[in-house]
Amino acid sequence: MTIEENLKHVKATLPETVELVAVSKYHTVEDIRLCYEAGQRVFGESREQELRVKREALPEDIEWHFIGHLQTNKVKYIAPYISLIHAVDTPQLLREIQRQGERCGRTIRCLLQIHVAAEETKYGFLPDECLEYLDTGEFRELTNAQICGVMCMATNTDDEERIRSDFRRAHEFFDTLKQDFFPSSPDFRLRSYGMSHDYRMAVEEGANIVRIGSAIFE
Ligand SMILES: *Cc1c(COP(=O)(O)O)cnc(C)c1O
Repeated sequence: MTIEENLKHVKATLPETVELVAVSKYHTVEDIRLCYEAGQRVFGESREQELRVKREALPEDIEWHFIGHLQTNKVKYIAPYISLIHAVDTPQLLREIQRQGERCGRTIRCLLQIHVAAEETKYGFLPDECLEYLDTGEFRELTNAQICGVMCMATNTDDEERIRSDFRRAHEFFDTLKQDFFPSSPDFRLRSYGMSHDYRMAVEEGANIVRIGSAIFE
């Protein structure tokens, strides 16, 4: 199947209320352009340098999302244009986003990455760590970094029940944060979970933004 057909197929399986991020990491500018010409405008990358090169080569109306682990020292390069940072996993990173957002006069949208998977190596706040941070109230002072929801990656397994239970935990955690910290923030509404192999389950479990790479580009 072509990229255009893949994109059509993926979009046909997503409710209209779910935003699609086409994950273009490792794929060429030519492939991204094909996807763009098929109508896609939101793309996700996970390396700052790769993103920089691609952004310069591609149309300006693309909305770029940073989906992977972001090093603090890279924030300054993406701050002027990034549309959403999916994987904020430390208070330090959030502070740096605030600093760089302020420097370039933007409010940068972010998601808190929550660790729900069984693997120990994955990045992300443990739910308790996240609560502890939010309890400090520091986030309320952030004028240029805006927390818009949560992101997670499910356990890398064939066990569907395990995957669903990871997504459910993320959703419950989202509800807790919404109720306890963001009850009057309409912008706190994003649940970013689901990749090529598990996005259908993710959508059934309440994701409203999915990050899909291989199902589109391969
Ligand atoms: C690569 C990546 C994806 C997309 O994975 P596919 O299996 O290619 O759909 C989604 N989220 C993150 C954080 C990634 O690094």
